[in-house]
Amino acid sequence: AGLPDDIRRRVQDHPCYSEEAHHHFARMHAAVAPACNIQCHYCNRKYDCANESRPGVVSEVLTPEQAVRKTLVVAAAIPQMSVLGIAGPGDPLANPERVFATFRDLAAKAPDIKLCVSTNGLALPEHVDELARHNIEHVTITINCVDPDIGAQIYPWIFWQHRRVFGREAAAILIEQQQKGLEMLVARGILVKVNSVLIPGVNDRHLRDVSRIVKAKGAFLHNVMPLISAPEHGTFYGLSGQRGPTPAELQAVQDDCEGNMNMMRHCRQCRADAVGLLGEDRGAEFTREKIDAML
Ligand code: SF4
Ligand code: SF4
Repeated sequence: AGLPDDIRRRVQDHPCYSEEAHHHFARMHAAVAPACNIQCHYCNRKYDCANESRPGVVSEVLTPEQAVRKTLVVAAAIPQMSVLGIAGPGDPLANPERVFATFRDLAAKAPDIKLCVSTNGLALPEHVDELARHNIEHVTITINCVDPDIGAQIYPWIFWQHRRVFGREAAAILIEQQQKGLEMLVARGILVKVNSVLIPGVNDRHLRDVSRIVKAKGAFLHNVMPLISAPEHGTFYGLSGQRGPTPAELQAVQDDCEGNMNMMRHCRQCRADAVGLLGEDRGAEFTREKIDAML
């Protein structure tokens, strides 16, 4: 992809952001964030957050202490491990104490590991300063729309200022928070990737606008991911019959957005507890039980 040189330098050892790096550097996800503050139609809470991870997967939730221990064990076993990401199983910023405790402890014990986090963006503005303090270099925001009428078809409700807000009003608040959070991160020099879940018939024609707007605000990469629709995953639960895009439809939307933006095409929608190089998942070697047995 045609990333500018200054950004290329900053992501050269990040497997998710650099096509070259993903053959040489490994990443892990730590599932320390069980709660979520919104409802996406395509999410069934029994499984990992579908905004960053593969739907229909259940990751083992760890306490911050367990996550730090696991990260240190993995880093010792896989020398190419360069990045720890927190992406679920709910929304990391709906669990700020757990997430920041993990980052704080890890920064003290393994300062070379880069940290990243992904979020639906609702609680982002209030946490930007703390993210910057923890030296978070990359944040991923899932932005499926910039129009509340489309948002109302994707998000039935959000939990906002101690109450549940529904429909178009909810979508409008979420969109505003996402855009504000994006601007605040960019202003602090934090790299922002935007994920969008492509939902045929809902936001397929709209993602081009999303791409244009987030690029104008300084996001450096756009990752359009397919909705993975499988009844047993509860995908679009409440809205039966929603299908995912065909590979050709996905590519058409990615091409459509490309005129505006660098597109990420090698995201694997990893599990919230994935470990290893991008093409592999060694998570099963590092379950809590196995790590406890190693110590
Ligand atoms: Fe599910 Fe993630 Fe949406 Fe929360 S943000 S409802 S965990 S897909
Ligand atoms: Fe990288 Fe995508 Fe996997 Fe996250 S889900 S670790 S961005 S490939």
